[in-house]
Amino acid sequence: MVRVKYVERPDLTNTERIFFIDFIKGMKITIKNFFKKTITTAYPFEKLTPPKRFRGAHGHRVKNGKEPPSFKVLEKFMEINEGESRCVACYMCQQACPVPELFKIEAVQLPNGKKKVLRFDMNLMNCMYCGLCTEACPVDCIIHTDIYETATYHRAGGVAHLEDLSKRAEDFDRRRFNEPDRIWIDDEERSKLWGQIKWS
Ligand code: SF4
Ligand code: SF4
Repeated sequence: MVRVKYVERPDLTNTERIFFIDFIKGMKITIKNFFKKTITTAYPFEKLTPPKRFRGAHGHRVKNGKEPPSFKVLEKFMEINEGESRCVACYMCQQACPVPELFKIEAVQLPNGKKKVLRFDMNLMNCMYCGLCTEACPVDCIIHTDIYETATYHRAGGVAHLEDLSKRAEDFDRRRFNEPDRIWIDDEERSKLWGQIKWS
């Protein structure tokens, strides 16, 4: 049986009744905040640039000469041309994902014995943007970008394909690869939104 505990609301005192004390207290907070600088933005007219470490829509880094050393080893077993996704079809991202069904990865073995990724689809409608897949990737292929506008008019639009993923990561790296990996774009941006943080 569910027990419900009722708490009596205390009666207002005569002073509170006559001078609207609670109303004045509430208005004091409202007025104080009314003159404070707002931290919200008038989206979609005003758009913030998220920090580089923001977990936005996914991208696939391509083979571009900036791969980690692990790629140099794995690449020997793969058929990947310059400018193509550097995915080595290891399925680590899918293994790490709490919703593995959102991945559709297919690779084939070519007559020369090398492997080629033919399909890499991600149904981002089921993604919770936890970042586990990006942590698991051994070749720094799957990444989060700063793209956060992913709404579509149809469900199919929520599925990202290999080509979309590669284009997205290329665009992201072109704009932000050299930026330091940090939570805020810079200190000025942070203090603009949140004021000075006093470190202990
Ligand atoms: S961000 Fe999380 S939920 Fe989304 S694909 Fe990666 S691991 Fe899966
Ligand atoms: S972890 Fe990286 S290399 Fe492996 S399948 Fe996923 S994206 Fe491709």
